[in-house]
Amino acid sequence: MNPSATGDVEAYIAAAGKAAWEVPGIDPSTPRRRIGTVGIIGAGTMGGGIAMNFATAGIPVRIVDTTQDALDRGLRVVRGNYQRSADKGRFPRHEVEARMARLDGRLDIAELGNCDLVIEAVFENMDLKRRIFAELDKVMKPGAILATNTSALDIDEIASATSRPADVIGLHFFSPANVMKLLEIVRAGQTAPDVVATCMDLARTIGKVAVLVGVCPGFVGNRILFARQKQALRLIRKGLMPWDIDSAINAFGFRMGPFQMSDLAGLDIGWSKGATTQNPIRDALCEIDRRGQKTGAGYYDYDDARRPVPSDITAGIIRDITGAEPIAMSRDEIIETCIFPMINEAVKILEENKAQRPSDIDVVWLNGYGWPAEKGGPMFYGDMIGAKPVLARMERLGADDPEFTPAACLRRLAESGGSFTAIDCGGLKT
Ligand code: NAD
Repeated sequence: MNPSATGDVEAYIAAAGKAAWEVPGIDPSTPRRRIGTVGIIGAGTMGGGIAMNFATAGIPVRIVDTTQDALDRGLRVVRGNYQRSADKGRFPRHEVEARMARLDGRLDIAELGNCDLVIEAVFENMDLKRRIFAELDKVMKPGAILATNTSALDIDEIASATSRPADVIGLHFFSPANVMKLLEIVRAGQTAPDVVATCMDLARTIGKVAVLVGVCPGFVGNRILFARQKQALRLIRKGLMPWDIDSAINAFGFRMGPFQMSDLAGLDIGWSKGATTQNPIRDALCEIDRRGQKTGAGYYDYDDARRPVPSDITAGIIRDITGAEPIAMSRDEIIETCIFPMINEAVKILEENKAQRPSDIDVVWLNGYGWPAEKGGPMFYGDMIGAKPVLARMERLGADDPEFTPAACLRRLAESGGSFTAIDCGGLKT
């Protein structure tokens, strides 16, 4: 019996977590590749955090950056993280040195040649990533797994820079990578089955919750997040303020709403001075150095305890850019406008065979994005409220923007009374 039908959210979450490890179509007895040493390219925010996972699990890591300064900075952050954990008593102090001794900094990618797995974590730029993969193709030993930590780029395009696309896979860690449990394992068009099986096993070894997904912009997690962010920005253009939207999303159960999350991540991701992006409000905030929590202000001001406070400056910028008169909207309407498109996007992901099963989508959102556990994930929540109200809302949103037209399968569920968690589109296809 489908646990969601019983309404037992805890049983559903436990079953979903277990199912995510199963990969139909790959023989469980497939021989795994041996992972003795891991190479990491880029000692920035993600590279350092990813390296910690392996060093903590006892696996030696070789980490490469372009300058000694960048390398030193990256390793300093790692040491600081370990030191803080040891100071809190999470492990004995001598473990800090033992773990640091497993990290070996280098300045040349060629020195990664005999690693069994290499994970690229440089800037999010296709040309740069393709250059790096072309170089890896030259220097890596045969049989090495070549992984990218890209958040949203086309991994098939990255793989095509090599002569061995069967060895290429996405390992999408979440920030902070040493803390967040979720790992999206992205199977590209030509990824070999033993590469997938090896990476699933490795995820267990380093204590992650792995979900196998397919290549599409943003994969499963970020693709659904983009749908929520786009709707949140549309509400701003209609006359709401960031804090109106965040407080509704907080009331739904997320610790952070879209704008609180942007402030935490940094508004300048994907922005450079003078840039005009699809979000002119963010551009204007960045230009005056309101780049999020790290600069002490972003969409919000921050008080001495780093609590977000609504900002008159941001409100003025928004009014200048949108020209919109302030409007009032109920919490429920804000929630439906931001959350129902996530359910619709999840259904489209299943229709496009970019996820193995509906519950995998819930595992992603529960473990990577703080979806409130009592609401089970976007698919479980869809079953809690039923397909009809979701369809009605999507018909209205889709009339304004074709990107939000209702998924065909959503329409079918609304007509037949079917269940989101029981959608069967045939699993993941690459
Ligand atoms: P970052 O700017 O903190 O770090 C990038 C590092 O790569 C820098 O230290 C830089 O010096 C190094 N680098 C650049 N070119 C290099 C080269 N040719 N050889 C070796 N090192 C090089 O960036 P980040 O936030 O760690 O992001 C890295 C990747 O991870 C991106 O693809 C990003 O989309 C992805 N990602 C980021 C997050 C996040 O929240 N930050 C989450 C998931 C995935």
